[in-house]
Amino acid sequence: MSIHAVPGRLTIGVLAVQGSFSEHEALVAAAGADARQVRTSEQLADLDGLILPGGESSTVGLVAGESGLLDSMRAAISAGLPVFGTCAGMIMLARATTGGTQPLLGGIDMTVRRNAYGRQQASFEAPLNVPVLGESTLDGVFIRAPWIEEAGPEVQTLASYAGRPVLVRQGDLLAAAFHPEFTEDARLHAYFLDIVRERRSEAQQNTGGVRVRA
Ligand code: GLN
Repeated sequence: MSIHAVPGRLTIGVLAVQGSFSEHEALVAAAGADARQVRTSEQLADLDGLILPGGESSTVGLVAGESGLLDSMRAAISAGLPVFGTCAGMIMLARATTGGTQPLLGGIDMTVRRNAYGRQQASFEAPLNVPVLGESTLDGVFIRAPWIEEAGPEVQTLASYAGRPVLVRQGDLLAAAFHPEFTEDARLHAYFLDIVRERRSEAQQNTGGVRVRA
């Protein structure tokens, strides 16, 4: 067990199995936290939060499943680790996909449809209104994006596009159907860091002011 004094900089893991992890690392840094690449279960230790990048969710599920990392991430989510998933990362956080049995992490009570926006619209950009980020719109970069087919009552919609939620939150889990990491706008990463800080200060209150990690 290690005990860290507070306050300290946040360390955010970025799953680096495949996909847009280096873009996420840059935005984590821009938002004022340290990023750490995660490829093994050991690298999950002592993280304040975790980001699941875009890429190919079936590949991520396969590779991380074989190494045991998938089970470790499931355990970390159950233990309350805040997680932010984008595109393929959003799929990983879903309870189910419409189309099959690929391995998922779960955590958000939603079913997603992969590659949902048809051929014509497979990739597109759209300005998104995201009230929690303030007045100016966020540039939504959608690349073979999933959409949310159905979601339970605990899933909060933070932004929608064409009548469907594209940014959702359940507790300390945040998921975007699009790729903020392909822009230079760090507001969504900063919002995730706020979630992480809230979670950390709650944990500190429960442990008498020190951060205790097994
Ligand atoms: N289509 C991918 C999947 O199903 C997601 C695409 C992305 O992350 N840009 O996993």
